[in-house]
Amino acid sequence: MFEFRLNPQALDPEHIAIAKSKGVKIDWRDGHHSEYDLKYLRENCPCASCSGAHGTPSLKEKEEGPFPLYKPAPKIVSVEPVGNYAVRIVWNDGHSTGIYSYEHLRLICPCEECRKLAGT
Ligand SMILES: [Zn+2]
Ligand SMILES: [Zn+2]
Repeated sequence: MFEFRLNPQALDPEHIAIAKSKGVKIDWRDGHHSEYDLKYLRENCPCASCSGAHGTPSLKEKEEGPFPLYKPAPKIVSVEPVGNYAVRIVWNDGHSTGIYSYEHLRLICPCEECRKLAGT
């Protein structure tokens, strides 16, 4: 379990609790509360290779081929704050380039209220 309090000057999250094998919970400064499970977070990795930027397969995909036979459930190996605006998550599949900005996290908040706002 990682927990850290953020710079009170920073907007966005007030408190983040990250359980490596469970998920991430964020209390936002505006009183909103978000909970993300790990699979969801891993699938929403914002890095260029995961988000499919440029439409090219990532190095990992090339190595494993398009249909990897076995994918372990995603788990967090470690996490570190990046400045005042993001956290970098290292996953058990070796992926470590995902920098989850708080803006991105708020955007992908899976709660009903936010899904309604996003129109999905
Ligand atoms: Zn990624
Ligand atoms: Zn929400």
